[in-house]
Amino acid sequence: MINQALGNLFIVAAPSGAGKSSLIAALLEYSAQNKLSNPAQLSVSHTTRAPREGEVNAKHYHFTSIEDFEALIEQDAFYEYAKVFGNYYGTSKEAISDKLSQGIDVFLDIDWQGARQIKAVNPDVVSIFILPPSIESLRERLIGRGKDSSDVIDKRMQEAVSEMSHYKEFDYLVVNDDFEQALSDFVSIVNGQSLKANKQQARHAELLASLTGK
Ligand code: 5GP
Repeated sequence: MINQALGNLFIVAAPSGAGKSSLIAALLEYSAQNKLSNPAQLSVSHTTRAPREGEVNAKHYHFTSIEDFEALIEQDAFYEYAKVFGNYYGTSKEAISDKLSQGIDVFLDIDWQGARQIKAVNPDVVSIFILPPSIESLRERLIGRGKDSSDVIDKRMQEAVSEMSHYKEFDYLVVNDDFEQALSDFVSIVNGQSLKANKQQARHAELLASLTGK
């Protein structure tokens, strides 16, 4: 069980091309401008996939060899890990633990398999699924990204449909049609979580004691 007395743990999942990375980046930008109730940080996962152009080790992922990844599994270093598109991906315990107790909201950009593992041990985790407005727009976005060949795009479309079939396992659904609207929905979910009575109780212990005499 992860201590979430102050910070919240969020899972954000989506099929590739739904705009998840852009929404998370915009949310982190809001956080940098102090526009959220809690500061927000993205957890940096480990992966055995090769870095894409422009990706920086320790910023986008901890790029890891298969041997090192399997050694970390043996050492019980992960909260969750899964094979996605033939590569290992995992969230290390180190990426989360201290931040939540400091009142930082931590965001996990992971797939449905990881979401299921984390939910099983942390019922308090808040899971959000980002959806594209249509199947055509998803394909256009995958092509527009220009990072993958058409074979890879076809494979990713199949994976996307399979990923989306898990939407019912998530607490919130955000449809990313209009980006600003989707961002506003995302921010509402995040801020709403911080205003829950149990979080406010931890934050305003003195006020509540003085108001109630207890
Ligand atoms: P990409 O290779 O495009 O960066 O990510 C592929 C998929 O792996 C995405 O759906 C992403 O959310 C997922 N993913 C990234 N990090 C993790 C992780 O630590 N654990 C799990 N289970 N999935 C992850």
